[in-house]
Amino acid sequence: MICRRSDKELEKMHQANAIVLHILELLKTALEPGITTAELDRIAADSLKREGAKAAFLGYRGFPASLCVSVNDEVVHGIPSETKVLAEGDIVSLDLGSIVDGYYGDNAITAGVGAIPEQHERLLTVAERAMFKGIEAMEAGNHISDIGHAVQSHVECHGYSVVREYVGHGIGRALHEDPPVPNYVQAGRDPRLKKGMCLAIEPMVVTGESHVKTLADKWTVVTADGGFSAHFERSATITDSGPWILAEPKRVYSEGASIV
Ligand code: MG
Repeated sequence: MICRRSDKELEKMHQANAIVLHILELLKTALEPGITTAELDRIAADSLKREGAKAAFLGYRGFPASLCVSVNDEVVHGIPSETKVLAEGDIVSLDLGSIVDGYYGDNAITAGVGAIPEQHERLLTVAERAMFKGIEAMEAGNHISDIGHAVQSHVECHGYSVVREYVGHGIGRALHEDPPVPNYVQAGRDPRLKKGMCLAIEPMVVTGESHVKTLADKWTVVTADGGFSAHFERSATITDSGPWILAEPKRVYSEGASIV
């Protein structure tokens, strides 16, 4: 079942998502050589508390932290650790979820530690743009596969691959709701998009083959071939005047930028 949210509900989701994106921007400024991924998690947890939001990931299916921190060849679900120390040139995916009055926010960014090689900059640019391409496809009357097509074609035209094993999702009163939102075109069920649906668009873009594996900690997902990975995510909804990125003030989304 795909839920559609009222304006009142969307306002709660705006709050939940704006808090998350604000904290991600704060964490980005903390990405310095020598910081541990556990310190980043503490900043995230303290910030959520200060904002009056609950951590959506902590305890989710047993996940032990508020923040997922995935470094270099790690794709998603990296567990923060006191012994994982970031170094100059690393690329770090930060994925954070919140709950405000029972409504969820879920967003992710990938950023570099200090100066990063030019090929990493390119990977990050392509992955972020692929996410915005997916969001641009969130028009009433389109299908879920239009999102996957937009993401996949942008990524593959730039010589990268999209991960298949993990996909975007509906979001609202739960972190993961119907429908799944693949970052590629998939045959089969293909719901039509309607006003008020809320989707987390989250391409995972890798430099090599798309295959991934899960480490012995049962959470950390890495590329099977050791390629680098970038992950960007925004929760967005479909309005009469186009997609609304829920972390942003209510605006029409167009051509990679928010305009009034
Ligand atoms: Mg998500």
